[in-house]
Amino acid sequence: MLKVTKFGGSSMADASQCRKVRDIVLSDPSRKVVIVSAAGKSSQDNHKITDLLYLCHAHIKYGMDCSNVFEMIAGRYRKIRDELGLDIDLEPEFVELKHRLEKKDVSEDELVSRGEYFSAKLMAACLGFEFVDAADWVYFKMDGSVDQEASYQALQEKVHGGVVIPGFYGVMPDGNIRTFSRGGSDITGALAAAALDADVYENWTDVSGILMADPRIVENPLPIPEVTYDELRELSYSGAQVLHELTLFPVREKGIPLNIRNTNDPEAPGTMIREKFDGDSDPNRFITGITGKKDFSIVHLSKRGLSNEVGLLRRILSIYERHNISVVYVPNGIDNVSVVIETEAITPKLYTILAEVQQEIRPDTLQVIDKIAVVAAVGRRMSKRPGISGQIFGALGQAGINIRWITQSPDELNIIFGVNNDDFAKAIRVLYDSFAK
Ligand code: ASP
Repeated sequence: MLKVTKFGGSSMADASQCRKVRDIVLSDPSRKVVIVSAAGKSSQDNHKITDLLYLCHAHIKYGMDCSNVFEMIAGRYRKIRDELGLDIDLEPEFVELKHRLEKKDVSEDELVSRGEYFSAKLMAACLGFEFVDAADWVYFKMDGSVDQEASYQALQEKVHGGVVIPGFYGVMPDGNIRTFSRGGSDITGALAAAALDADVYENWTDVSGILMADPRIVENPLPIPEVTYDELRELSYSGAQVLHELTLFPVREKGIPLNIRNTNDPEAPGTMIREKFDGDSDPNRFITGITGKKDFSIVHLSKRGLSNEVGLLRRILSIYERHNISVVYVPNGIDNVSVVIETEAITPKLYTILAEVQQEIRPDTLQVIDKIAVVAAVGRRMSKRPGISGQIFGALGQAGINIRWITQSPDELNIIFGVNNDDFAKAIRVLYDSFAK
């Protein structure tokens, strides 16, 4: 049995959090591969190490002295080391890094990667595990994608006993360090799990799993115990931010379950994410999660005979494609079609696009509706169960919420609808109170 475990910034923020990590890892001998983030924010008056490293680089870029910021970073790691009583000398590496910084001899990517690097050095010493540098096995191709085959093989050759690996970065073919985008340690963990054919990829964070709704909207939402990869994609696509969006692909490809766990509540089972679940632990709850996002715009046009004109829909959509605008939903009627787009994406090009639609499509009416929110009820158990949408829209209707458009994919994994921005939070609360609790 092999569990690959990844601990995020809040789990690495200070010595007491690191002790929790150590206890979690050592409590289970199958937790042999550990990936860590840089130390996160441990209190109101300090900062994420990664943010400080970016700041340090900005100082150097603009010719300013970065000593103070650099000292804050080094000081955080010294403090963790001393409070954990670790016998590891980081000073030579701090001195060398500072020296290279002053000579402008460190790229931004390399500098910010040092947050995870020092975290991993400390955690390896704390656990008595071997340190395996991400630069020795996460191989990027020149186009910035990961060379999975080469990376997997390299890691397989390196892991013999317990190892700690820094997340967030790898190496380019020319030997330079390259980071993933922010939050990218999740991806390193997923790559390690896939490389080693782990039985499970545990992603340890500071919440007891993925929540059924946004806690800023719903008070104390319940965590989702089990969610499929497809459901999670639906949930994250419409707004829920749980994992780095590229995390799922490597583990999903290999059929490895992903378990989101809470370092501060290690007994909680968290959320288990799998391709599919055989039994059903909670058959009465048909909604897995509720999500959504505000600030969409609808460009609505009508044209007599629209549905008889072959290729018209393609012509409409190609206008958006030309402007590199991603179309999110396309609800339509017999002689009308709406294009739903994030307002932020369309605003800079709105008038050009309207002019082109007018000229190329010659609609009878053309209208833009702003301040629209999208809400998605996601749940694999909704499929083939008559009456679900009736219940959902009944509850929303009773609460006086007007629905602007509705979409349900034929796999019945989601029911998505548009409401006015002002009704967004209310719609989510109504769904949660009616069906999730
Ligand atoms: N430390 C990096 C960040 O703050 C990567 C990570 O934590 O996953 O974005």
